[in-house]
Amino acid sequence: MTKTPAEKLPIGAHCSISGGVHRALLEGHKIGATTIQIFTTNQKQWKGRPIPEAEIERWEETLAETGIKHVMSHDSYLINLGSPKPELLEKSQKAFDEEIKRCHALKLSYLNFHPGAATGSSEEECLDQIVKSLHKTEELIAEGPTRLLIESTAGQGTSVGHQFEHLAYIINHVHKKIPIGVCIDTCHAFSAGYDLRTKEAWDETLKKFDEIVGLEHLYAIHVNDSMKPFASRKDRHASLGKGTIGYAGFKAMMQDPRLRELPKYLETPMGDKYWKDEITLLRNYAG
Ligand SMILES: [Zn+2]
Ligand SMILES: [Zn+2]
Repeated sequence: MTKTPAEKLPIGAHCSISGGVHRALLEGHKIGATTIQIFTTNQKQWKGRPIPEAEIERWEETLAETGIKHVMSHDSYLINLGSPKPELLEKSQKAFDEEIKRCHALKLSYLNFHPGAATGSSEEECLDQIVKSLHKTEELIAEGPTRLLIESTAGQGTSVGHQFEHLAYIINHVHKKIPIGVCIDTCHAFSAGYDLRTKEAWDETLKKFDEIVGLEHLYAIHVNDSMKPFASRKDRHASLGKGTIGYAGFKAMMQDPRLRELPKYLETPMGDKYWKDEITLLRNYAG
């Protein structure tokens, strides 16, 4: 496989859509991003919105202008596809369908979603409910180009997805019918007990991932350092090198041929103040 030059590797950050979805592309372009993540609607409200035709046109023009690719949506924080509460589950499934429609309208590559939280049920019941919820999207997801990506979690509270076994369980039950994969969040994985501080640690973690889930199911990475200690199961992002993972871990990530070409999205604090430098840092590590 030919190596992509470092400046062309898909690296970016979560950009704001305030003022219209195309604004996120312009913000990304300004900080040297070649890919971005967005919310397609207000992530803290149930009520979504279809994206107006004029905004979609503007989006497509700006995509061509900026050359940004592999755009990923992050789903609403309210959605819980594994909820044991019928009312919340129904609301979640409806909001998720609307999210898929917006992703298709914008022709996004990926829809990253938090798998779910047990909130009273067992982890197994929660995982089974997530599988059922995903099966319901089968027809809709086939109507467009978007692939669903399960985000690995830190295991805060009752959320599932912090063990590779959880991700494997979901993937194995749906991947033959639904385009699906995994987005590893470095902060979350580290907090969940998968070490990423050195090349050796990455090797060990990727070996586990490959055995349990399969590296062919890994599509993207959320690149965040962690404010909390290893295996703390706490989700608090830190700027690169300022947390408990440290620079060496991110250098090892960029220099690993299995990870080099995967789209990467920063969700580190301080936003575009630091993102430009963090993107440059990652490109420099890639050589
Ligand atoms: Zn997330
Ligand atoms: Zn997080």
